[in-house]
Amino acid sequence: MTGPGPLALVVEDEPAMARLLASILGSAGYRTFVVATGRDALAQAATRAPDVVLVDLGLPDRDGIDVVRALRAWMRAPILVVSARGQEQDKVAALDAGADDYLTKPFGAGELLARLRVALRHAARGPSGDVATFAAGDLHVDVERREVRRGGTDVHLTPTEWKLLAVLVRHAGHVVLQRDLLREVWGKAAEAQGVGHYLRIYVAALRRKLEDEPAQPRWLVTEPGVGYRLRDEA
Ligand code: CA
Repeated sequence: MTGPGPLALVVEDEPAMARLLASILGSAGYRTFVVATGRDALAQAATRAPDVVLVDLGLPDRDGIDVVRALRAWMRAPILVVSARGQEQDKVAALDAGADDYLTKPFGAGELLARLRVALRHAARGPSGDVATFAAGDLHVDVERREVRRGGTDVHLTPTEWKLLAVLVRHAGHVVLQRDLLREVWGKAAEAQGVGHYLRIYVAALRRKLEDEPAQPRWLVTEPGVGYRLRDEA
């Protein structure tokens, strides 16, 4: 690596967890700065301009969700929530508040670093730099050409399957909320119309066409109660 690595602001009040995060990040070339309160997080984010912020939800002075929301109000750097709270509503609340992704404790170092790479890559591309292609394993998707190939063979998708896959490709690596998938594929009123089960049906159909083992998907994975993620790193 040339030059200093990306600066990660770690917002974590448990010293052991803060040390673990700093150690994992340091070994991957990140510079880290650790704070233990929401108040310090907001102050240090403003003065240090971190490249990425990792936020624990259980902080001594204020809820981590509020910290995420306050940061997102002005900051563009990606925010990764790293929390022991694994409830679906906490994940949705964190993503709604503006977090780019979340990771539930305990987590593996490889998983943390992969999520950070994805977040930084998306941030580098900017809001209008949508990716039009996705490649993982023997799967290749080209959104502009409307082409899907698996193991060198063309895969035929229905128009709805195609719409769904295109949304997931644009957010590759990130979890996409069920609500957002419904809105983007079926339109604004989809959720109110109770068509949530369509999503499961079309995800299952896509898996049959894209996955070697549709029952144990490798690429199109479920984030239970939250949404779906097209994994772009093995
Ligand atoms: Ca905590």
